[in-house]
Amino acid sequence: MHIAFAASECAPFAKSGGLADVVGALPQELAKLGHEISVYIPFYPRVRRFIEGAPHYAVRSLTIPFRYYNRFVGVIDGGKRDGVRYYFIDCPEIFDRPDLYGPHGGEYSDNAERFGLFCRAVIEAAKILGVPQVFHVHDWQAALIPVYLRTVYATDPVLRSAATVLTIHNAAYQGKFPPNTIEQLLFPWDLFTLDKVEHFNRFNFLKGGLVFSDLLTTVSRKYAEEIQTPEFGEQLDGVLHRRAADLHGILNGVDYSRWNPAADTNLVACYTPRNPIGKRACRADLLRLFGLDQLPENTPVIGIVSRLVAQKGFDIVAQISEQIAERNLAVIVLGTGNSYFENFFRGWAFRHPDNVAARIRYDEGIAHKVEAGADLFLMPSRYEPCGLNQIYSLKYGTVPIVRATGGLDDTIEEWNAQKATGTGFKFAGCEPKDLLAAIDRALAAFHSPKEWPRLMRNGMERDYGWVNSAREYQAIYKEAARRRG
Ligand code: ADP
Repeated sequence: MHIAFAASECAPFAKSGGLADVVGALPQELAKLGHEISVYIPFYPRVRRFIEGAPHYAVRSLTIPFRYYNRFVGVIDGGKRDGVRYYFIDCPEIFDRPDLYGPHGGEYSDNAERFGLFCRAVIEAAKILGVPQVFHVHDWQAALIPVYLRTVYATDPVLRSAATVLTIHNAAYQGKFPPNTIEQLLFPWDLFTLDKVEHFNRFNFLKGGLVFSDLLTTVSRKYAEEIQTPEFGEQLDGVLHRRAADLHGILNGVDYSRWNPAADTNLVACYTPRNPIGKRACRADLLRLFGLDQLPENTPVIGIVSRLVAQKGFDIVAQISEQIAERNLAVIVLGTGNSYFENFFRGWAFRHPDNVAARIRYDEGIAHKVEAGADLFLMPSRYEPCGLNQIYSLKYGTVPIVRATGGLDDTIEEWNAQKATGTGFKFAGCEPKDLLAAIDRALAAFHSPKEWPRLMRNGMERDYGWVNSAREYQAIYKEAARRRG
């Protein structure tokens, strides 16, 4: 099949989060299955470093109309990599800026126009470069593609049979804009109703995508269920519930060529499930790096690598930080984000210099060292669409302690000492005592020479590569195309 991906991020060209990893890895896996895949992303300044010499334009100029003016957009041929064709939508007035979405984690004031233009440009480019059987669009930034296709372009004979699949990577980000965005993007006003794109008197891009796409997916089965409830649905639970039969949860895969302790160049020693001895050297290296080298040998180390934002549940940790630190354990934190949480971790480390250490920064090399050197990995997220770090942790023999939500619940199985099954420790509520109980269960297993090696090995032997997920997406594309008929 010919599938066109459209997204605002794609690794390695432009990344701010997990979305980029999926759009970077899934197309290559699909290409291996024999599909023809093209990927469209905006041409941000940071994409330029991946192009040798002057950009080669596949299309020199597309006209994208707005209410009072036109914009002219080029399509740069990014070449073929690992069987996947990349196209970059070039419109310097709106994409030639330092940030993807806005300065300091904020929003550019013209984001509706930026991503409205992106969506329309992808459709126009595809008409010249090849209309796919399926447009696979990601998150709110690409969610207007299905809306355009079924409204403004509904009678275009070459687009009529192109199916659409929308993947929600995080329902909290929706692209909400003032009502007159309808006019600015040249949509008819009859689209601005509650059963279409209107949401609390805003033009909600993600909602439009949810209404008009043939099929919907999100990044774990549990999150697919959760977002149909008021607690997790971010006020889109009603629409999602109505489309429940068309909504599928497909777990993200991970890239084991980058995240594998058997061949990780960031580590001082490599190790495997059969020969985990190198993990000791990684632990010593990590403790040295974080200034905790005095820590006794049998003290368990809990690692945290995370964006420090409310979603990640560190408020639960903060409520019991003293009780945690008083236990016989160490905590090592790598993260950046919201200054409240950054300061909490700084303060916690200051109060407990012997067993709590924090680095407030983004550093991929250190992230690998934490995964390898820690014994346990903590993710108390309030919600987690998929989550990658707990899956990396399994591979590194670093036992996850997670809140039972979204992808965390789908990927981590509670340890059962009698049966010697399971891969980690889970807690369900948001009560600090639930987290503390999970930590205590983990500590008990850590100190059992019989349980711990088995628990580590269970995780290390799990396989969350892309192969299975790619096959599930393939089935979704076939079904979407069949429905368009
Ligand atoms: P999210 O996409 O919500 O941030 P995920 O667990 O899906 O959460 O992915 C997080 C990714 O970002 C992982 O690859 C993780 O290693 C990386 N990461 C997060 N914070 C940092 C940091 N401070 N330094 C290095 N890598 C980080």
